[in-house]
Amino acid sequence: MTPPGLLRQIVIVGGGSAGWMTAAALSSLLDPREVTITLVESDAIGTVGVGEATIPDILAFNRMLGIGETEFMKATQATFKLGIEFVDWGRKGDRYVHPFGQHGVDMQGIDFHQYWLRARGEGATDPIEAYSLCAVAAQAGRFVLPDPNPRSVLSQIRYAYHFDATLYAAFLRRYAEARGVRRVEGAVRNVRRHAENGFIAGLDLGDDRAVDGDFFFDCTGFRALLAGDTLGVGFVDWSHWLPCDRALAVPSAHQGPLAPYTRSTARDAGWQWRIPTQRRVGNGHIYASAFLSDDRAADMLLSSLDGAALADPRPIRFRAGCREAFWTDNCIAIGLAAGFLEPLESTSIYLIQEGISRFISLFPRADIPDIVRTEYNRHMRTEFEQVRDFIILHYGATERDDTPFWDYCRTMKLPDTLVHKIELFRRTGRVFRYNDELFARPSWIAVMLGQHIVPQDCDPVVATLPANDIAHSLKSMRGAIAAAVERMPMHQDFIERHCPADSA
Ligand code: FAD
Repeated sequence: MTPPGLLRQIVIVGGGSAGWMTAAALSSLLDPREVTITLVESDAIGTVGVGEATIPDILAFNRMLGIGETEFMKATQATFKLGIEFVDWGRKGDRYVHPFGQHGVDMQGIDFHQYWLRARGEGATDPIEAYSLCAVAAQAGRFVLPDPNPRSVLSQIRYAYHFDATLYAAFLRRYAEARGVRRVEGAVRNVRRHAENGFIAGLDLGDDRAVDGDFFFDCTGFRALLAGDTLGVGFVDWSHWLPCDRALAVPSAHQGPLAPYTRSTARDAGWQWRIPTQRRVGNGHIYASAFLSDDRAADMLLSSLDGAALADPRPIRFRAGCREAFWTDNCIAIGLAAGFLEPLESTSIYLIQEGISRFISLFPRADIPDIVRTEYNRHMRTEFEQVRDFIILHYGATERDDTPFWDYCRTMKLPDTLVHKIELFRRTGRVFRYNDELFARPSWIAVMLGQHIVPQDCDPVVATLPANDIAHSLKSMRGAIAAAVERMPMHQDFIERHCPADSA
Protein backbone atom coordinates (compact mmCIF):
# COMPACT_ATOMS: atom_id res chain seq x y z
CA MET A 1 0.00 0.00 0.00
CA THR A 2 1.41 3.43 -0.88
CA PRO A 3 1.35 5.86 2.03
CA PRO A 4 -0.71 9.05 1.65
CA GLY A 5 1.17 11.77 -0.21
CA LEU A 6 2.55 15.13 0.73
CA LEU A 7 0.49 18.14 1.67
CA ARG A 8 0.50 19.99 -1.65
CA GLN A 9 -1.15 23.33 -0.99
CA ILE A 10 -0.34 25.23 2.18
CA VAL A 11 -2.28 28.42 2.87
CA ILE A 12 -1.31 30.97 5.50
CA VAL A 13 -3.89 33.58 6.45
CA GLY A 14 -2.33 36.73 7.91
CA GLY A 15 0.75 38.75 7.13
CA GLY A 16 1.96 39.90 10.55
CA SER A 17 5.11 38.52 12.15
CA ALA A 18 3.41 35.13 12.61
CA GLY A 19 2.32 34.81 8.98
CA TRP A 20 5.60 35.87 7.42
CA MET A 21 7.73 33.89 9.89
CA THR A 22 5.69 30.80 8.99
CA ALA A 23 5.96 31.54 5.26
CA ALA A 24 9.71 32.17 5.46
CA ALA A 25 10.42 29.01 7.46
CA LEU A 26 8.30 26.76 5.22
CA SER A 27 9.70 28.27 2.04
CA SER A 28 13.24 27.57 3.24
CA LEU A 29 12.29 23.92 3.69
CA LEU A 30 9.89 23.00 0.90
CA ASP A 31 10.43 22.76 -2.83
CA PRO A 32 7.89 25.06 -4.53
CA ARG A 33 7.54 22.53 -7.37
CA GLU A 34 6.23 20.01 -4.81
CA VAL A 35 4.31 22.21 -2.37
CA THR A 36 2.76 25.61 -3.05
CA ILE A 37 2.63 28.17 -0.25
CA THR A 38 0.10 31.01 -0.48
CA LEU A 39 -0.20 33.83 2.04
CA VAL A 40 -3.39 35.87 2.18
CA GLU A 41 -3.33 39.18 3.99
CA SER A 42 -5.30 42.36 4.04
CA ASP A 43 -3.59 45.74 4.06
CA ALA A 44 -6.96 47.25 4.98
CA ILE A 45 -7.11 45.19 8.19
CA GLY A 46 -3.42 45.70 9.00
CA THR A 47 -1.24 44.10 11.66
CA VAL A 48 -0.95 44.62 15.40
CA GLY A 49 2.31 46.49 14.66
CA VAL A 50 4.09 45.83 17.97
CA GLY A 51 6.46 43.08 19.08
CA GLU A 52 9.88 44.64 19.22
CA ALA A 53 11.79 42.76 21.90
CA THR A 54 13.01 39.19 21.54
CA ILE A 55 14.94 36.51 23.39
CA PRO A 56 18.11 34.73 22.19
CA ASP A 57 16.18 31.95 20.44
CA ILE A 58 15.50 34.37 17.57
CA LEU A 59 19.13 33.91 16.53
CA ALA A 60 18.46 30.22 15.86
CA PHE A 61 15.42 31.10 13.74
CA ASN A 62 17.36 33.56 11.59
CA ARG A 63 20.22 31.07 11.30
CA MET A 64 17.83 28.31 10.20
CA LEU A 65 16.73 30.65 7.41
CA GLY A 66 20.34 31.45 6.52
CA ILE A 67 19.81 35.16 7.23
CA GLY A 68 23.00 37.15 7.87
CA GLU A 69 22.97 39.15 11.10
CA THR A 70 24.31 42.39 9.63
CA GLU A 71 21.79 42.41 6.78
CA PHE A 72 18.97 41.66 9.24
CA MET A 73 20.03 44.36 11.71
CA LYS A 74 20.34 47.03 9.05
CA ALA A 75 16.97 46.14 7.50
CA THR A 76 15.01 46.07 10.77
CA GLN A 77 16.80 48.96 12.55
CA ALA A 78 17.74 46.47 15.24
CA THR A 79 19.76 46.92 18.40
CA PHE A 80 21.26 44.26 20.66
CA LYS A 81 19.57 43.15 23.86
CA LEU A 82 21.41 41.63 26.82
CA GLY A 83 18.45 41.28 29.17
CA ILE A 84 15.64 43.17 30.87
CA GLU A 85 15.90 45.69 33.67
CA PHE A 86 12.95 45.48 36.06
CA VAL A 87 12.17 48.64 38.01
CA ASP A 88 9.80 48.86 41.03
CA TRP A 89 8.56 45.27 40.74
CA GLY A 90 9.34 43.67 44.12
CA ARG A 91 9.16 46.94 46.06
CA LYS A 92 9.04 50.55 44.94
CA GLY A 93 12.62 51.71 44.42
CA ASP A 94 13.85 48.21 43.44
CA ARG A 95 15.90 47.64 40.33
CA TYR A 96 17.26 44.32 39.08
CA VAL A 97 18.36 42.82 35.78
CA HIS A 98 17.16 39.55 34.32
CA PRO A 99 20.15 38.95 32.05
CA PHE A 100 20.54 36.44 29.26
CA GLY A 101 23.22 33.92 30.12
CA GLN A 102 24.51 32.63 33.39
CA HIS A 103 25.58 34.07 36.74
CA GLY A 104 29.13 33.21 37.73
CA VAL A 105 30.62 29.79 37.15
CA ASP A 106 29.36 26.56 38.73
CA MET A 107 32.05 24.90 40.83
CA GLN A 108 32.51 21.21 41.66
CA GLY A 109 29.16 20.44 40.07
CA ILE A 110 27.32 22.81 42.40
CA ASP A 111 25.34 25.76 41.09
CA PHE A 112 27.05 29.13 41.36
CA HIS A 113 24.17 30.75 43.25
CA GLN A 114 24.79 28.40 46.19
CA TYR A 115 28.23 29.96 46.65
CA TRP A 116 26.69 33.39 46.32
CA LEU A 117 24.12 32.50 48.99
CA ARG A 118 26.86 31.28 51.31
CA ALA A 119 28.85 34.51 50.83
CA ARG A 120 25.69 36.48 51.45
CA GLY A 121 25.19 34.57 54.70
CA GLU A 122 28.70 35.68 55.66
CA GLY A 123 27.78 39.32 55.09
CA ALA A 124 28.61 39.90 51.38
CA THR A 125 26.32 42.48 49.80
CA ASP A 126 26.93 42.21 46.02
CA PRO A 127 23.75 41.49 44.07
CA ILE A 128 23.91 38.28 42.06
CA GLU A 129 23.88 40.30 38.83
CA ALA A 130 27.41 41.54 39.61
CA TYR A 131 28.40 38.01 38.49
CA SER A 132 26.58 38.18 35.16
CA LEU A 133 28.59 39.48 32.23
CA CYS A 134 25.38 40.38 30.37
CA ALA A 135 23.91 42.31 33.33
CA VAL A 136 27.10 44.27 34.00
CA ALA A 137 27.60 45.07 30.29
CA ALA A 138 23.94 46.09 29.93
CA GLN A 139 24.18 48.56 32.79
CA ALA A 140 27.42 49.97 31.37
CA GLY A 141 25.76 50.39 27.93
CA ARG A 142 28.39 48.15 26.33
CA PHE A 143 28.16 45.33 23.81
CA VAL A 144 30.36 42.95 21.87
CA LEU A 145 29.61 39.67 20.12
CA PRO A 146 30.46 36.50 22.07
CA ASP A 147 34.01 35.19 21.87
CA PRO A 148 33.93 31.68 20.32
CA ASN A 149 36.80 30.66 22.65
CA PRO A 150 35.02 28.97 25.60
CA ARG A 151 37.90 29.93 27.93
CA SER A 152 37.25 33.63 27.39
CA VAL A 153 34.89 35.45 29.78
CA LEU A 154 33.35 37.02 26.66
CA SER A 155 32.11 33.58 25.58
CA GLN A 156 29.36 34.12 28.22
CA ILE A 157 27.65 36.85 26.19
CA ARG A 158 24.12 35.83 25.19
CA TYR A 159 21.97 38.28 23.35
CA ALA A 160 18.79 38.91 21.39
CA TYR A 161 17.47 41.90 19.45
CA HIS A 162 15.13 44.84 19.64
CA PHE A 163 13.76 45.61 16.20
CA ASP A 164 10.96 47.23 14.25
CA ALA A 165 8.38 44.44 13.96
CA THR A 166 6.84 45.86 10.79
CA LEU A 167 10.24 45.96 9.11
CA TYR A 168 10.93 42.39 10.24
CA ALA A 169 7.69 41.17 8.62
CA ALA A 170 8.61 43.09 5.42
CA PHE A 171 12.11 41.57 5.47
CA LEU A 172 10.71 38.05 5.82
CA ARG A 173 8.17 38.78 3.09
CA ARG A 174 10.98 39.55 0.64
CA TYR A 175 12.74 36.37 1.76
CA ALA A 176 9.64 34.20 1.35
CA GLU A 177 8.52 35.68 -1.97
CA ALA A 178 12.00 35.13 -3.38
CA ARG A 179 11.51 31.43 -2.53
CA GLY A 180 8.21 31.10 -4.29
CA VAL A 181 5.60 32.11 -1.71
CA ARG A 182 2.62 33.69 -3.45
CA ARG A 183 1.05 36.65 -1.65
CA VAL A 184 -2.63 37.36 -2.16
CA GLU A 185 -3.96 40.74 -1.07
CA GLY A 186 -7.53 40.70 0.20
CA ALA A 187 -9.78 40.11 3.18
CA VAL A 188 -11.17 36.62 3.74
CA ARG A 189 -14.98 36.88 3.81
CA ASN A 190 -15.94 33.22 3.98
CA VAL A 191 -14.25 29.97 4.92
CA ARG A 192 -15.43 26.81 3.13
CA ARG A 193 -15.25 23.39 4.81
CA HIS A 194 -15.39 19.83 3.49
CA ALA A 195 -18.82 18.35 4.14
CA GLU A 196 -17.50 14.89 5.10
CA ASN A 197 -15.01 15.81 7.85
CA GLY A 198 -15.30 19.57 8.50
CA PHE A 199 -11.71 20.21 7.39
CA ILE A 200 -11.07 23.63 5.87
CA ALA A 201 -11.25 23.49 2.07
CA GLY A 202 -10.77 27.08 0.97
CA LEU A 203 -11.20 30.78 1.50
CA ASP A 204 -13.45 33.18 -0.39
CA LEU A 205 -12.21 36.71 -0.68
CA GLY A 206 -15.58 38.19 -1.48
CA ASP A 207 -14.68 39.40 -4.98
CA ASP A 208 -14.96 36.11 -6.87
CA ARG A 209 -11.44 35.17 -5.86
CA ALA A 210 -10.92 31.97 -3.88
CA VAL A 211 -7.86 30.31 -2.38
CA ASP A 212 -8.07 26.56 -1.84
CA GLY A 213 -5.65 24.47 0.16
CA ASP A 214 -5.13 21.23 2.01
CA PHE A 215 -3.41 22.73 5.06
CA PHE A 216 -4.05 26.12 6.70
CA PHE A 217 -2.21 28.32 9.17
CA ASP A 218 -4.37 30.75 11.08
CA CYS A 219 -2.12 33.78 11.56
CA THR A 220 -4.99 36.29 11.68
CA GLY A 221 -3.98 37.76 15.03
CA PHE A 222 -6.49 38.30 17.82
CA ARG A 223 -9.32 37.68 15.31
CA ALA A 224 -8.45 33.96 15.08
CA LEU A 225 -10.59 33.74 11.96
CA LEU A 226 -9.99 30.05 11.25
CA ALA A 227 -9.30 28.49 14.66
CA GLY A 228 -11.82 30.57 16.61
CA ASP A 229 -14.57 31.77 14.27
CA THR A 230 -14.60 28.85 11.82
CA LEU A 231 -13.54 25.79 13.82
CA GLY A 232 -14.94 27.06 17.12
CA VAL A 233 -11.85 26.22 19.20
CA GLY A 234 -12.33 27.64 22.69
CA PHE A 235 -10.02 29.98 24.60
CA VAL A 236 -8.44 29.15 27.95
CA ASP A 237 -8.68 32.35 29.95
CA TRP A 238 -5.81 33.15 32.36
CA SER A 239 -6.84 36.72 33.12
CA HIS A 240 -7.40 35.92 36.81
CA TRP A 241 -3.60 35.51 37.04
CA LEU A 242 -2.70 38.10 34.44
CA PRO A 243 -5.35 40.81 34.77
CA CYS A 244 -3.73 43.31 32.38
CA ASP A 245 -5.97 43.55 29.31
CA ARG A 246 -5.00 46.77 27.52
CA ALA A 247 -1.95 48.41 26.06
CA LEU A 248 -1.06 51.81 24.70
CA ALA A 249 1.96 51.86 22.40
CA VAL A 250 3.86 54.97 21.33
CA PRO A 251 7.27 55.58 19.75
CA SER A 252 9.49 58.34 21.10
CA ALA A 253 12.68 60.09 20.07
CA HIS A 254 16.00 58.90 21.41
CA GLN A 255 17.43 60.66 24.40
CA GLY A 256 20.96 59.53 25.14
CA PRO A 257 22.90 56.53 23.87
CA LEU A 258 21.29 53.25 22.79
CA ALA A 259 20.71 50.98 25.78
CA PRO A 260 21.45 47.29 25.12
CA TYR A 261 18.52 46.14 27.25
CA THR A 262 14.75 46.42 27.59
CA ARG A 263 13.38 48.28 30.59
CA SER A 264 10.17 47.23 32.31
CA THR A 265 8.90 49.63 34.95
CA ALA A 266 6.02 48.61 37.20
CA ARG A 267 3.28 51.27 37.27
CA ASP A 268 0.15 51.63 39.42
CA ALA A 269 -1.90 49.00 37.56
CA GLY A 270 0.52 47.30 35.19
CA TRP A 271 3.87 48.19 33.70
CA GLN A 272 5.62 50.17 31.02
CA TRP A 273 8.15 48.97 28.46
CA ARG A 274 11.02 50.87 26.90
CA ILE A 275 12.61 49.23 23.88
CA PRO A 276 15.34 51.08 21.97
CA THR A 277 15.63 50.43 18.24
CA GLN A 278 18.09 52.35 16.09
CA ARG A 279 15.76 55.12 14.92
CA ARG A 280 13.31 55.43 17.80
CA VAL A 281 12.35 54.08 21.19
CA GLY A 282 9.30 51.82 21.43
CA ASN A 283 7.23 52.48 24.56
CA GLY A 284 4.07 50.94 25.83
CA HIS A 285 1.89 50.88 28.91
CA ILE A 286 0.26 47.55 29.69
CA TYR A 287 -2.49 47.91 32.28
CA ALA A 288 -5.58 46.34 33.79
CA SER A 289 -8.72 48.23 32.80
CA ALA A 290 -10.45 47.07 35.99
CA PHE A 291 -7.94 49.15 37.96
CA LEU A 292 -7.03 52.08 35.67
CA SER A 293 -8.89 54.28 33.18
CA ASP A 294 -7.66 54.63 29.59
CA ASP A 295 -7.16 58.39 29.97
CA ARG A 296 -5.08 58.04 33.09
CA ALA A 297 -3.05 55.24 31.46
CA ALA A 298 -2.30 57.53 28.49
CA ASP A 299 -1.32 60.44 30.76
CA MET A 300 1.01 58.18 32.74
CA LEU A 301 2.66 56.89 29.57
CA LEU A 302 3.12 60.24 27.87
CA SER A 303 4.42 61.96 30.98
CA SER A 304 7.11 59.35 31.59
CA LEU A 305 8.76 59.04 28.15
CA ASP A 306 12.49 59.75 27.96
CA GLY A 307 12.15 61.69 24.67
CA ALA A 308 9.37 63.43 22.71
CA ALA A 309 6.43 61.26 21.57
CA LEU A 310 6.52 60.70 17.79
CA ALA A 311 2.82 59.74 17.42
CA ASP A 312 -0.39 59.44 19.41
CA PRO A 313 -0.60 56.38 21.69
CA ARG A 314 -2.23 53.44 19.90
CA PRO A 315 -4.69 51.38 21.97
CA ILE A 316 -4.67 47.56 21.85
CA ARG A 317 -7.00 45.23 23.74
CA PHE A 318 -6.21 41.64 24.66
CA ARG A 319 -6.91 38.78 27.03
CA ALA A 320 -4.30 36.50 28.57
CA GLY A 321 -4.69 32.86 27.63
CA CYS A 322 -4.39 30.40 24.80
CA ARG A 323 -6.49 28.23 22.48
CA GLU A 324 -7.80 24.97 23.91
CA ALA A 325 -6.14 23.34 20.90
CA PHE A 326 -3.52 24.84 18.62
CA TRP A 327 -3.88 22.28 15.84
CA THR A 328 -7.43 21.30 14.86
CA ASP A 329 -8.29 19.26 11.76
CA ASN A 330 -6.05 20.69 9.00
CA CYS A 331 -5.40 24.04 10.67
CA ILE A 332 -2.77 25.34 13.06
CA ALA A 333 -3.13 28.65 14.90
CA ILE A 334 0.14 30.54 15.25
CA GLY A 335 0.89 33.92 16.80
CA LEU A 336 -1.82 35.96 18.47
CA ALA A 337 -4.44 33.61 17.02
CA ALA A 338 -2.90 30.86 19.19
CA GLY A 339 -2.87 32.85 22.40
CA PHE A 340 -1.39 35.81 24.15
CA LEU A 341 0.88 36.29 27.12
CA GLU A 342 1.84 39.88 27.81
CA PRO A 343 5.30 40.85 26.54
CA LEU A 344 6.92 41.11 29.98
CA GLU A 345 9.56 38.55 29.00
CA SER A 346 9.34 39.10 25.21
CA THR A 347 8.09 35.58 24.57
CA SER A 348 5.45 35.92 21.81
CA ILE A 349 7.83 35.78 18.87
CA TYR A 350 9.52 32.80 20.53
CA LEU A 351 6.14 31.03 20.79
CA ILE A 352 5.57 31.67 17.08
CA GLN A 353 8.96 30.15 16.35
CA GLU A 354 8.21 27.16 18.53
CA GLY A 355 4.84 26.63 16.82
CA ILE A 356 6.54 26.59 13.43
CA SER A 357 9.46 24.36 14.39
CA ARG A 358 7.24 21.83 16.15
CA PHE A 359 5.07 21.65 13.02
CA ILE A 360 8.19 21.07 10.93
CA SER A 361 9.41 18.37 13.29
CA LEU A 362 5.99 16.66 13.07
CA PHE A 363 5.48 17.39 9.35
CA PRO A 364 2.57 15.08 8.49
CA ARG A 365 1.50 13.23 5.39
CA ALA A 366 -1.77 14.37 3.85
CA ASP A 367 -3.90 12.08 6.04
CA ILE A 368 -2.67 13.86 9.26
CA PRO A 369 -2.86 11.13 11.92
CA ASP A 370 -4.63 12.18 15.13
CA ILE A 371 -1.59 11.38 17.22
CA VAL A 372 0.39 14.09 15.44
CA ARG A 373 -2.18 16.71 16.41
CA THR A 374 -2.28 15.40 19.97
CA GLU A 375 1.49 15.60 20.30
CA TYR A 376 1.62 19.11 18.84
CA ASN A 377 -1.12 20.33 21.18
CA ARG A 378 0.50 18.71 24.20
CA HIS A 379 3.81 20.38 23.43
CA MET A 380 2.43 23.84 22.73
CA ARG A 381 0.16 23.81 25.78
CA THR A 382 3.15 22.93 27.97
CA GLU A 383 5.16 25.75 26.38
CA PHE A 384 2.41 28.28 26.99
CA GLU A 385 1.85 27.14 30.59
CA GLN A 386 5.53 27.26 31.44
CA VAL A 387 5.93 30.76 30.02
CA ARG A 388 2.70 31.76 31.78
CA ASP A 389 4.07 30.66 35.17
CA PHE A 390 7.28 32.60 34.67
CA ILE A 391 5.36 35.76 33.82
CA ILE A 392 2.98 35.32 36.76
CA LEU A 393 6.03 34.99 39.03
CA HIS A 394 6.82 38.69 38.49
CA TYR A 395 3.38 39.68 39.74
CA GLY A 396 2.93 37.04 42.44
CA ALA A 397 6.35 37.76 43.96
CA THR A 398 5.64 41.43 44.57
CA GLU A 399 5.60 42.84 48.06
CA ARG A 400 3.78 45.95 46.88
CA ASP A 401 0.45 46.83 48.44
CA ASP A 402 0.42 50.52 47.51
CA THR A 403 -2.37 50.21 44.90
CA PRO A 404 -5.41 47.88 44.67
CA PHE A 405 -3.84 46.26 41.56
CA TRP A 406 -0.62 45.29 43.32
CA ASP A 407 -2.52 44.18 46.38
CA TYR A 408 -4.57 41.89 44.13
CA CYS A 409 -1.40 40.46 42.54
CA ARG A 410 0.34 40.04 45.90
CA THR A 411 -2.53 38.06 47.39
CA MET A 412 -3.86 36.11 44.37
CA LYS A 413 -3.73 32.30 44.43
CA LEU A 414 -0.92 31.20 42.14
CA PRO A 415 -0.91 28.13 39.85
CA ASP A 416 0.18 25.01 41.81
CA THR A 417 3.10 24.48 39.43
CA LEU A 418 4.44 27.94 40.26
CA VAL A 419 3.84 27.58 44.00
CA HIS A 420 5.93 24.39 43.92
CA LYS A 421 8.80 26.12 42.15
CA ILE A 422 8.82 29.10 44.51
CA GLU A 423 8.58 26.96 47.66
CA LEU A 424 11.35 24.62 46.52
CA PHE A 425 13.61 27.60 46.00
CA ARG A 426 12.63 29.34 49.22
CA ARG A 427 13.20 26.25 51.34
CA THR A 428 16.15 24.60 49.59
CA GLY A 429 17.62 27.11 47.12
CA ARG A 430 17.04 24.60 44.33
CA VAL A 431 15.58 25.32 40.87
CA PHE A 432 15.09 22.67 38.22
CA ARG A 433 14.18 22.95 34.57
CA TYR A 434 11.30 20.67 33.65
CA ASN A 435 10.66 19.28 30.13
CA ASP A 436 13.19 21.56 28.45
CA GLU A 437 11.23 24.59 29.56
CA LEU A 438 12.18 27.86 27.94
CA PHE A 439 13.37 29.68 31.04
CA ALA A 440 16.33 27.95 32.62
CA ARG A 441 17.75 28.19 36.15
CA PRO A 442 19.50 31.59 35.79
CA SER A 443 16.26 33.25 34.69
CA TRP A 444 14.22 31.93 37.61
CA ILE A 445 17.01 32.83 40.03
CA ALA A 446 17.34 36.37 38.66
CA VAL A 447 13.64 37.11 39.07
CA MET A 448 13.15 35.31 42.39
CA LEU A 449 16.16 36.94 44.05
CA GLY A 450 15.37 40.25 42.32
CA GLN A 451 11.95 40.16 43.96
CA HIS A 452 13.14 39.13 47.42
CA ILE A 453 12.45 35.40 47.35
CA VAL A 454 15.65 34.41 49.11
CA PRO A 455 16.37 30.80 50.15
CA GLN A 456 16.55 30.11 53.88
CA ASP A 457 19.90 28.39 53.51
CA CYS A 458 22.57 27.45 50.99
CA ASP A 459 23.58 24.02 49.77
CA PRO A 460 24.79 21.96 52.80
CA VAL A 461 28.01 20.94 51.03
CA VAL A 462 28.85 24.55 50.20
CA ALA A 463 28.08 25.45 53.83
CA THR A 464 31.03 23.28 54.95
CA LEU A 465 33.58 24.96 52.64
CA PRO A 466 35.96 27.61 53.98
CA ALA A 467 34.26 31.02 53.73
CA ASN A 468 37.53 32.71 52.71
CA ASP A 469 38.01 30.40 49.73
CA ILE A 470 34.51 31.19 48.53
CA ALA A 471 34.99 34.93 49.00
CA HIS A 472 38.24 34.72 47.05
CA SER A 473 36.65 32.82 44.11
CA LEU A 474 33.75 35.25 43.95
CA LYS A 475 36.05 38.25 44.02
CA SER A 476 38.10 36.92 41.14
CA MET A 477 34.94 36.19 39.06
CA ARG A 478 33.61 39.67 39.71
CA GLY A 479 36.95 41.20 38.82
CA ALA A 480 37.19 39.22 35.57
CA ILE A 481 33.71 40.35 34.54
CA ALA A 482 34.32 43.99 35.41
CA ALA A 483 37.63 43.97 33.48
CA ALA A 484 36.04 42.31 30.42
CA VAL A 485 33.19 44.84 30.38
CA GLU A 486 35.67 47.70 30.64
CA ARG A 487 37.26 46.52 27.37
CA MET A 488 33.96 46.17 25.48
CA PRO A 489 32.90 48.93 23.04
CA MET A 490 29.87 51.04 23.76
CA HIS A 491 26.73 49.47 22.28
CA GLN A 492 26.00 52.57 20.19
CA ASP A 493 29.54 52.61 18.73
CA PHE A 494 29.37 48.89 17.98
CA ILE A 495 26.16 49.35 16.01
CA GLU A 496 27.38 52.41 14.15
CA ARG A 497 30.51 50.54 13.12
CA HIS A 498 29.01 47.16 12.19
CA CYS A 499 25.29 47.36 11.38
CA PRO A 500 23.81 50.88 11.07
CA ALA A 501 20.20 50.92 9.84
CA ASP A 502 19.65 51.19 6.09
CA SER A 503 18.64 54.69 5.12
CA ALA A 504 14.85 55.04 5.04
P1 FAD B 1 -1.09 40.48 13.54
O1 FAD B 1 0.14 41.29 13.52
O2 FAD B 1 -2.31 41.11 14.14
O3 FAD B 1 -1.39 40.05 12.06
C1 FAD B 1 -2.65 39.53 11.69
C2 FAD B 1 -2.71 39.44 10.18
O4 FAD B 1 -3.90 38.80 9.81
C3 FAD B 1 -2.67 40.77 9.46
O5 FAD B 1 -1.85 40.69 8.32
C4 FAD B 1 -4.11 40.96 9.03
O6 FAD B 1 -4.21 41.74 7.87
C5 FAD B 1 -4.51 39.53 8.76
N1 FAD B 1 -5.94 39.29 8.78
C6 FAD B 1 -6.78 39.32 9.83
N2 FAD B 1 -8.04 39.04 9.44
C7 FAD B 1 -7.97 38.81 8.11
C8 FAD B 1 -8.93 38.49 7.11
N3 FAD B 1 -10.23 38.36 7.40
N4 FAD B 1 -8.51 38.34 5.84
C9 FAD B 1 -7.20 38.48 5.50
N5 FAD B 1 -6.26 38.79 6.41
C10 FAD B 1 -6.64 38.95 7.69
N6 FAD B 1 6.02 39.90 21.02
C11 FAD B 1 7.32 39.80 21.28
O7 FAD B 1 7.93 38.76 20.99
N7 FAD B 1 8.00 40.85 21.86
C12 FAD B 1 7.36 41.99 22.24
O8 FAD B 1 8.01 42.91 22.72
C13 FAD B 1 5.97 42.08 22.04
N8 FAD B 1 5.27 43.17 22.42
C14 FAD B 1 3.90 43.18 22.27
C15 FAD B 1 3.15 44.23 22.80
C16 FAD B 1 1.75 44.22 22.70
C17 FAD B 1 0.94 45.33 23.30
C18 FAD B 1 1.09 43.18 22.01
C19 FAD B 1 -0.38 43.16 21.84
C20 FAD B 1 1.85 42.15 21.48
C21 FAD B 1 3.23 42.13 21.63
N9 FAD B 1 3.98 41.06 21.15
C22 FAD B 1 5.32 40.99 21.40
C23 FAD B 1 3.35 40.01 20.38
C24 FAD B 1 3.61 40.26 18.90
O9 FAD B 1 3.18 41.54 18.53
C25 FAD B 1 2.88 39.22 18.07
O10 FAD B 1 3.15 37.96 18.58
C26 FAD B 1 3.33 39.26 16.65
O11 FAD B 1 3.28 40.54 16.14
C27 FAD B 1 2.49 38.35 15.81
O12 FAD B 1 1.26 38.90 15.52
P2 FAD B 1 0.35 38.13 14.49
O13 FAD B 1 1.09 38.02 13.23
O14 FAD B 1 -0.13 36.89 15.14
O15 FAD B 1 -0.91 39.09 14.34
